[in-house]
Amino acid sequence: MSNQNVECGCDEIPQSLLSTDKALATLTNAVKVISVTESLELDGALGRILGVDICSNINVPGFDNSAMDGYAIHLKEGQINTPGGISFEITGRIPAGTTGLELQPGCAARIFTGAPVPKGANTVIMQEECELIENNSNIEIYRPIGLGENIRPMGNDIKTGDVVLAKGSKLKPQDIALAASIGMNTLEVFRKIKVGIFFTGDELVTPGYELKPGQIYDSNRYALTAMLNNLGCDITNLNHVKDTLDDTLIALDSLQDKCDLIITTGGVSVGEEDHVKPAVEKLGKLNLWRIKMKPGKPLAFGQIGQSAFIGLPGNPVSAMVTFLLFARPFIKKTQGCTNYLNTHFKVASNFDWHRPKPRREFVRVKLDQSTLPANVSQYPKQGSDVLSSMVWADGFAEIPEDTVFKSGELVNFYPLNEMML
Ligand code: AMP
Ligand code: MG
Repeated sequence: MSNQNVECGCDEIPQSLLSTDKALATLTNAVKVISVTESLELDGALGRILGVDICSNINVPGFDNSAMDGYAIHLKEGQINTPGGISFEITGRIPAGTTGLELQPGCAARIFTGAPVPKGANTVIMQEECELIENNSNIEIYRPIGLGENIRPMGNDIKTGDVVLAKGSKLKPQDIALAASIGMNTLEVFRKIKVGIFFTGDELVTPGYELKPGQIYDSNRYALTAMLNNLGCDITNLNHVKDTLDDTLIALDSLQDKCDLIITTGGVSVGEEDHVKPAVEKLGKLNLWRIKMKPGKPLAFGQIGQSAFIGLPGNPVSAMVTFLLFARPFIKKTQGCTNYLNTHFKVASNFDWHRPKPRREFVRVKLDQSTLPANVSQYPKQGSDVLSSMVWADGFAEIPEDTVFKSGELVNFYPLNEMML
């Protein structure tokens, strides 16, 4: 066990009452980005974080090609943009995947979408505009014809040497398709990060078992596992750990050498049933933050050996909200993701905010996009134990500290569907 790692910034902010912004900045500044990469085949790379810039070795398309099924034509000087009624002799046929012979002046070749425009051809006319005449040996076109019509030039999409995908991007289907289009069959991605989790609370019962008096079903375990799976983490789950110092120590110790990050829920307050804080302090370093936000005031951040540690509050809404607002950007940055901050945009509040509050509130709201700007309404019960509010909501409205406003005020909206990717 090692105590020497101080990357959590624990020395800087002892026992702090922190603003949301300061907490996020401190967390993300402490991140040690993964450096190890692995090579994956394209089909296995979805959702992974690209470990290198991808540069194209080829032009796409690699040759001038037809954008239409039609006729490639070698227009003579005097035929360019002149009134219609010009005919051309058909001297070739070029399906996609083949190459045609050089086209002589005044001649046409039947050509199909994607087929290379033959040498000599200087325009392509779509088949609907060409009339076959003289026993299908010629075509006639009844409108002025310009140079370069319906030709997709070489390198139109990508040029040799272009950086087409940037290191640190989370690979989406279109990124993988683009890699394929330049002929890559594997991609170098950062290794998955390892996250160890466990859940404190002697009242917790695993779903499927009967509740005895005073017990509740564990929901945080499922929320956290699902959110970590969404983020593509490698999870080691110790499930429930008894509310004793010894059990908490054993759990933390068993994870610390195996994980990049350890996350727990519950037990981070300072009651005598809360053993996470003393246990982390014994094995490493910890700062217990009282973040000026609602829901989710207590958040613990520390370091045990090589593992970062984040202790989330126990209340189910607080656990999810603090995970999404703090742990998620921390994890994404650790994974090598450059775009690790949560997306938000302005919407109009559909409610008044009567009293200034000392804590920033992340109100569970539903989004109505039928107005401009879009507006949000709040769930009537905003308690940190009301998990239904998370299911009902489309996202969080961020209400600044010490503010009052009337309905119509613009507030930041954090969409849940973005945060659950
Ligand atoms: P704690 O932070 O341990 O004091 O817990 C705060 C509240 O969250 C208590 O009402 C706990 O019963 C509840 N809680 C803690 N852990 C969980 C969990 N895994 N699932 C559901 N509720 C929990
Ligand atoms: Mg507890």
